[in-house]
Amino acid sequence: MSSLDTREEISRFISQTRITNTHCHHLDDALYKDIGLRDVLERSYAAWCAEIPDIFDIAAADGFIKKARCNTFFRWLARSIEALYSLPFTAENFPAIDARIRAAHADEAHHLNIMTDICRFESIINERQPNPGSNLGHPRLFKPSFRCDSLFSGFDKDLPDNDGFFCAALFHGGYPETLRDFLTAAAGVIKEKKADGCVALKVAMAYIRPINFDFTDFEKAEKAFGNSGASACETAAFGNVLMHSICGAAVENGLPVQIHTGMAALEGTRPLELLNLIKSHPETKFHLLHGGFPWFSDTYALLASFKNVWSDVCWVPYLSTSRAADYIVTALEVSGSDRLTWGCDAWMPEDSYGALLAMEHTLSKALSQMVSDGAFDINYAKYLAGRIMRENGKLLFGI
Ligand SMILES: [Zn+2]
Repeated sequence: MSSLDTREEISRFISQTRITNTHCHHLDDALYKDIGLRDVLERSYAAWCAEIPDIFDIAAADGFIKKARCNTFFRWLARSIEALYSLPFTAENFPAIDARIRAAHADEAHHLNIMTDICRFESIINERQPNPGSNLGHPRLFKPSFRCDSLFSGFDKDLPDNDGFFCAALFHGGYPETLRDFLTAAAGVIKEKKADGCVALKVAMAYIRPINFDFTDFEKAEKAFGNSGASACETAAFGNVLMHSICGAAVENGLPVQIHTGMAALEGTRPLELLNLIKSHPETKFHLLHGGFPWFSDTYALLASFKNVWSDVCWVPYLSTSRAADYIVTALEVSGSDRLTWGCDAWMPEDSYGALLAMEHTLSKALSQMVSDGAFDINYAKYLAGRIMRENGKLLFGI
């Protein structure tokens, strides 16, 4: 069998697999009403690579396409829109594409139909601010991951998190008065979220601060508590103490901890910054997101050294399709069949489908390369595809 045939067969197998989407930011139904092409572009990662033009200005739209076409966010979103709305993604077609998107979303179920019927998502580990832990009213499809970020602002009860959410809203019976009480209350919230159906915890603090949580000076952390004028060192100590407490609560409640690694604030977001946290919590299941892009070697080291580390490939094929194939090959070589997962990491269904197309392309490329290289046969490649796209997520999150 030629390597092209091998890739095609693996690709066909993946395209028939039902998927456990292990990281997603899908929104409430109401937010998909009355949307057109401009909304889809503005709320997708394509907006991160170039300014979205007036879609009815053909020259401006053409300039946008020329600028963004090499960018992988754009490349896969454009493919997704072409497949979903049956028109080539050209500037001349923008008004017609806009009309088709509007007509399709007039059906309130369209956004969910893309997720379940086109993307084949069976379960979606979803995390969404500003309503942490919500299942969006669709509990069979969305399994919430409780985003803990607001707790990190909790040293000052009047300080919202990055998404405007106040952790005070999580506490019943008044705001805790001491750091110890706060940590107890935070553990109580996690227990409650688990009872409400959350299947994971999520920490996206890489957007705010370095992800090194080593300096756990309790006295310094106490100085931050209830102190709106706390120093950076004191608030960092507060966050560090809290993070270790979250890792403990995760074990008590049987919840994996999803952590954003790489990109974001860049400074101090390399996965290896988590080394001591991971060492300190051998019972905690760490689900590290994005391969730590672009610092893949850090994730390889953690995967190879710790059996309680999983890698979610989410965002990697979307950030760089060519690097992603290499990432998957090496990550598999240093771990096993059981510790890689994939999520779409998007909030527009068109972008979720684009991310899936990118992953299907990448995964079939990576696995067929390994078959050609004599690593294993095509049947094992299919087994791996099924593990990564479906089974590993089900096992890790208990769904
Ligand atoms: Zn995400």
